[in-house]
Amino acid sequence: MTSAELRQSFLDFFASKGHTVVSSAPLMPSSPNLLFTNAGMNQFVPYFLGEQKAPFKRACDTQKCIRAGGKHNDLDDVGFDTYHHTLFEMLGNWSFGDYFKREAIEWAWELLTRVWGLPRERLYATVYRPDEGDPAEFDQEAYDIWKDVLSADGLDPKLHIRTGNKKDNFWMMGDTGPCGPCSEIHIDLTPKGDSRGELVNADSPQCIEIWNLVFMQFNAEANGTFKPLSAKHVDTGMGFERVAGIFATTDGFKDFTKEPSNYDSDLFGDLFRHISDMSGRTYTGTVPKNRDDLSGQEMTDVIFRVLADHIRTLSFSIADGILPGNEGRNYVLRRILRRAVMFGKRINLPRGFFANLVAPLVTKMAPHFPELADQQEVILKVIRQEEQAFDRTLDRGLQLFDKFTLDGTGITGEQAFILYDTYGFPLDLTQIIARERGLTVDSAGFEAQMEQQRQRARSAQKKDVISVFEEGEKVHSTQFVGYNCSEISHVETTLVG
Ligand code: ATP
Ligand code: MG
Ligand code: MG
Ligand code: MG
Repeated sequence: MTSAELRQSFLDFFASKGHTVVSSAPLMPSSPNLLFTNAGMNQFVPYFLGEQKAPFKRACDTQKCIRAGGKHNDLDDVGFDTYHHTLFEMLGNWSFGDYFKREAIEWAWELLTRVWGLPRERLYATVYRPDEGDPAEFDQEAYDIWKDVLSADGLDPKLHIRTGNKKDNFWMMGDTGPCGPCSEIHIDLTPKGDSRGELVNADSPQCIEIWNLVFMQFNAEANGTFKPLSAKHVDTGMGFERVAGIFATTDGFKDFTKEPSNYDSDLFGDLFRHISDMSGRTYTGTVPKNRDDLSGQEMTDVIFRVLADHIRTLSFSIADGILPGNEGRNYVLRRILRRAVMFGKRINLPRGFFANLVAPLVTKMAPHFPELADQQEVILKVIRQEEQAFDRTLDRGLQLFDKFTLDGTGITGEQAFILYDTYGFPLDLTQIIARERGLTVDSAGFEAQMEQQRQRARSAQKKDVISVFEEGEKVHSTQFVGYNCSEISHVETTLVG
């Protein structure tokens, strides 16, 4: 199966179970407390809350999600692991006051094991077990259903059902909004599949979460309480790139001798070929064991993943009307682009390389996301200009870095902050450059500077872009309806700065 076939087979499966196939919502969130759309359920919040009547009882889709700020922020892991992206597709099926836990669990199991043929003995389900003071009770209902489903397939429920607390098994979109206990499906990726469930929820690349089945029962109120919803709903989210990656690495879920990676799927192949052609380097798929001590090839492989990931985030966002800029989500986007450009420099990619990745991306993804082809010219223009502007700043920043470290001392917190604030150097990159030169960075000092900046911004009573980025504060949301010609030239004049 190609990734396109895999996506289609998910949608076809749920269509055959009476679900209406809907389109992905834009990345510009409809909720004011989100920076970006971060889960499939975002567009359905009014249905869960009973504010609007759903036009269908069941729906399914693939949703573009970005997790690079606010409550869900995976940016720091991107590139360093092989299964967190900034932008990814979340495949989902929903029940709006219709079916509940039994069908959700049975269908998930049917799709994974019967339709796709995932090896069932490698799969583990989790159910919610609260710690003291946590909302809701132990999810006995989900436990009993899993017990039936797994036993019917000859698996030992005691081994294959694990429990998790609020951190992993109680899903919340943000601090407020619809929420509930969840059951997640994890896959053991060890060569022999003999981890016996011990790696579940342990942040191990050898056992990753592929699908989250959320049972929406509550609304988290602003005062911290959990109010039961008037009806119960199902909200599921599956990591499309994860399943496509596992499928690709294991030759159709058959051979687990090599550790699966999202980047092995055909979603990333052409991007990697382009990066390889431009840099003269080869992607070998290594994953750093120790982030503080990367070999040359490990660094190259991290960079390939970062670039392939970040071009997706930039292109999809711009297509949905979110441009790099100085505040809120726009600033997040600018930082992601700068991160890409800085990483690209480290493997001597030529100026303007990042914009060159737009074409292969559009070719790959436009068949399912036509907005990319419709907006290709704008995407290209925006990225090109933003990249050029940053290239100029970057050269000055690197000169300053050299000046700061002329005497052989490390980078102070204040210096790291200047590099960050004025030249757009993310802390992780300052650390990497310093480490390569055998120098240290005072990251605690940097954090202190960041905090001071937040305080200054607060007392100045104006929105601070950094705290928005770090804390996901409320930001405006506007409806994007497409670009027109005058806006494209407007883009040109506002970008550089
Ligand atoms: P993880 O624990 O692996 O970070 P999560 O619990 O944060 O995942 P959910 O909020 O439950 O993820 O989202 C539903 C599904 O989306 C996950 O089961 C996973 O397969 C996928 N997913 C989540 N975050 C990412 C990401 N950053 N990149 C790719 N896929 C993701
Ligand atoms: Mg996560
Ligand atoms: Mg998780
Ligand atoms: Mg989860």
